[in-house]
Amino acid sequence: MVDARAIRKSFGSNEVLKGITLQVEQGQVLCLLGPSGSGKSTFLRCINHLETINGGRLYVDGELMGFREKSDAIYEMKPGAIAKQRSEIGMVFQRFNLFPHLTALENVIEAPVGVKGISKTDAVIKAKELLASVGLSDKINHYPSQLSGGQQQRVAIARALAMEPKLMLFDEPTSALDPELVGDVLDVMRKLALSGMTMIVVTHEIGFAREVADRVVFMDDGIVVEDGTPSQVIDKPKNERTKAFINSVL
Ligand code: ATP
Ligand code: MG
Repeated sequence: MVDARAIRKSFGSNEVLKGITLQVEQGQVLCLLGPSGSGKSTFLRCINHLETINGGRLYVDGELMGFREKSDAIYEMKPGAIAKQRSEIGMVFQRFNLFPHLTALENVIEAPVGVKGISKTDAVIKAKELLASVGLSDKINHYPSQLSGGQQQRVAIARALAMEPKLMLFDEPTSALDPELVGDVLDVMRKLALSGMTMIVVTHEIGFAREVADRVVFMDDGIVVEDGTPSQVIDKPKNERTKAFINSVL
């Protein structure tokens, strides 16, 4: 589903991704760990072409992201084509970025109606199902300011799912939450993983990674340092940098 080959990304002279190669199979959950500044968010943003890569190739579901190949050269796609590719990938960030002036329900139907052109009636039916599946049936008419951080984050997940993405990217979705609100969000993500969604999750929640991930990748300084099953990477890390990181977050 995701095939990243030697991805490079620099900001000015600062090379943040120094050749990231990794694959995620359909239905797999990959947890991405790494210290602050190692390039995790940048890598996620490269996957849906929110950042333009400087080297390598990135395929999602067999499609080259952001570029088209012609003879030997590659060209960046037009904004409309990029938006179409991006609409098939759901993203949930650390800070819930809901529209503050829209209710939970309105937030969830916004993209299906506005981007996909689905009828409002159908979008509302689907949105109510999604909000129920994240445990928020009784909050559909609440505005973000009337919801807890954890509830807002679950609306953000429902909103991403409303576009029927083939891939979900999570960037530290629980790290801005009060500890008592983390569990509900992780429960929703666990359920989503069990439903067969392909997911890449940047997280420091080692318990979640151990239990839910098919694979754990540890990144440091723009490279993949270790890649394996949760028990390999979390319980029996080979690399000293991985060991030090795991010890620091356990
Ligand atoms: P954290 O765990 O703190 O979220 P991270 O692993 O997600 O860290 P990134 O946010 O990907 O790290 O940042 C990696 C490096 O890229 C940092 O040195 C950061 O300053 C730099 N960087 C990220 N985005 C930009 C940008 N838009 N312009 C310039 N530099 C950037
Ligand atoms: Mg980050």
